[in-house]
Amino acid sequence: MKLTSLRTRTLIATLIILFGLVGFLLFFTYTIIGHGFQVLEERIVQEHVQQAANALYDSLASLDRTTNDYAIWDATYAFVAEPDLAYVNDNFAPTTFSNNNLSYVAVVNTAGAVVYAHATDLASEQEVAPPAELAHFTGANARLLQHDDPNGHLSGVVVLADGPMLLAARPILTNQGAGPARGTLLMGRRLDAREIARLAAIIRMPLTVRRLDDSSQPPAPQQAALASTAEQPNGVIPRDNQRISGSTRIADIFGQPGVLLQVELPRDVAQLGQEVTRQYGLVLLGLGLLFGVLVFWLIERVVLARIITLNAQVAVVDASHPDVQVTVTGRDEISQLGSAINQMLVRLGHAQQQLVENERRYRQIIELSPDPIIVHDGRHIQYTNTAGARLLGLGAATTAHGQPLDATIGALIPPRDDTPLRVERVLLPPDGEAIEVELVVLSLHDQEHESIQVLVRNITARKQIEQALRTAKEAAETANRAKTQFLATMSHELRTPLTSIIGYADLLNEMFADTSDHEVRQHLKRIRSAGAHLLVIINAVLDITRIEAGRMHVQAVPVTLAALLHLVTDSIQPLVERNGNRFEIANCAAVDTMETDEVHLRQILINLIGNACKFTHAGLITLTVTMLPGKAGAASDDVSFAVRDTGIGIHPDQVARLFHNFVQVDASLTRKYGGTGLGLALSRRLASLLGGSLTVTSTPEVGSTFTLTVPRKLRVAATPAWILDFGLLQSETLAKQ
Ligand code: ADP
Repeated sequence: MKLTSLRTRTLIATLIILFGLVGFLLFFTYTIIGHGFQVLEERIVQEHVQQAANALYDSLASLDRTTNDYAIWDATYAFVAEPDLAYVNDNFAPTTFSNNNLSYVAVVNTAGAVVYAHATDLASEQEVAPPAELAHFTGANARLLQHDDPNGHLSGVVVLADGPMLLAARPILTNQGAGPARGTLLMGRRLDAREIARLAAIIRMPLTVRRLDDSSQPPAPQQAALASTAEQPNGVIPRDNQRISGSTRIADIFGQPGVLLQVELPRDVAQLGQEVTRQYGLVLLGLGLLFGVLVFWLIERVVLARIITLNAQVAVVDASHPDVQVTVTGRDEISQLGSAINQMLVRLGHAQQQLVENERRYRQIIELSPDPIIVHDGRHIQYTNTAGARLLGLGAATTAHGQPLDATIGALIPPRDDTPLRVERVLLPPDGEAIEVELVVLSLHDQEHESIQVLVRNITARKQIEQALRTAKEAAETANRAKTQFLATMSHELRTPLTSIIGYADLLNEMFADTSDHEVRQHLKRIRSAGAHLLVIINAVLDITRIEAGRMHVQAVPVTLAALLHLVTDSIQPLVERNGNRFEIANCAAVDTMETDEVHLRQILINLIGNACKFTHAGLITLTVTMLPGKAGAASDDVSFAVRDTGIGIHPDQVARLFHNFVQVDASLTRKYGGTGLGLALSRRLASLLGGSLTVTSTPEVGSTFTLTVPRKLRVAATPAWILDFGLLQSETLAKQ
């Protein structure tokens, strides 16, 4: 992008504003002052035109007065009645004409007959024929004999074939102005060159008189005639730059278009106007330029020069000049900007230092990393740490740049996003044996470069450990399977002789029922009790091993809840009574039937209630049955059996271990209460077989609640996942004991 300097742009803007303003002012000046001078010129011309008209009307008035003098006179009065030559000779001698500036005199009687008419050419002082247009006073001319005006006054211009003439008509009366009028006296004065020159001399300016009906006029008067109208008789037309003409229409004595008086004046006012506006414009332009220069100088001094200096100083700031500060002058926004830039530069310097320090630290970490890190562009190495150089057999890391890349590493292309690609490979370093490695490949890209970072982790040892673990696990699993098999066989083998021992103990008991040897009876009782206890343990172990081996089957049958609870109550009654406890059932279930494995369900419940009875003394044991909504996706609702007691409770630390095989809370308790530590473990596994769960909440010295939750309808008899690692767990527990 082409950079236009701030100074040039400001200068251009200042010039545009300046010339725009000056142009605007000049335009208004020329328009307003020019128009003012034009109006003034027109007014002056019209005043002069009016002067010319006034001179003409003055001439007409003097003609009228002369006519009046002769018309109201007994001699003329008598002459009309009896014309005689003496009157004519006395009163209308050539001197009368020349003295009064008369071109024409006519005496007309009331009948319209011309009693006397005489015309003279004043220039040559020769008699000429009276105008033919005034030979008769009929038609339009009859108007000249009518005197509607109380003074009998009638005067005006008549346009004759050979030129216009001023004409006055007065009724002929006696000296006293008494009538009746015997006729009309008409006197005329030709508007010839002589008269026009006289009028021009009076008004002291060139005067032209034109007939309004004259088509042979030059264009200017024609335009002047057009410029004036009946309503606006005065017209003004500039002839050229030097002269202007004004004109006025004078109607004839009959009210028809008569003559046009035209004066011509030098255009002094217009020229003065032009001169004034020209000088004003020059002054304006000069002032504009002066102010423009001043404004630009001020902007340059106050703003531009400082910003340009600031810009030049900021331009040299880079990493190599971290300490550069810009010069701050004045106390305004620019100085604030300078201060802000300086603060920014200080922060930039700190950030730069931090950056360098961070980079040094990270470089050190990477350099010291035992894992090789290699950055490449697909074909050549761009960077590698010492471990990387060693792996690739390149000697020092500093010489690695630009070296060709190992084919295995170079072939890996990671995704373009920030997700690393993780692959395991076997590498054959140039100097050693094959190693197993995990390669973490990441795409690095900035605006200019694309590169790939590879982190190489030697996983040979890990792989060996994993292999060893796998082997050990397989061995353990084999051993566990053998142990399970052994336990199942052993339990079975033990049960057969044990049943015989219990049977014979019962037989001996009956045989010695009546003996008085108390000691023998006690021994037999102990044999019977120990045998029975051992059988319980063996049965439990057998059940657990069966479940573990996947040989414990469940069978869903219709179960009536009431019957089930009845059976359970019957079974545990002796246990309840043994410790002086009370047992209550709260059946809150909305349904009465279930479809599940009744034997296992009963086994769990008896076990839980048995435990509750065992660890409670003179307390209350409750079994509460409720319906719960089934888990998401389950075919039926769940039935919950909660066994609550008010016994010794269990410490929170022990709760988690309760369901492990052979686990009892406390050894002292074992001595006191007996038991195998298998009941809860078996119950939980049976609960799982029924598709349910077994949980516990307990407070020491307050009581425990064991809650069994099973689906109302047993659906699938799948082998639960815990069975797979159950054997391991069991073997651990056994080992501890
Ligand atoms: P045991 O045959 O020893 O009772 P269990 O697996 O049934 O084996 O129980 C394991 C241990 O859990 C018991 O020894 C006892 O310490 C504790 N326990 C079980 N039920 C209760 C209970 N209702 N109140 C207190 N402790 C209990």
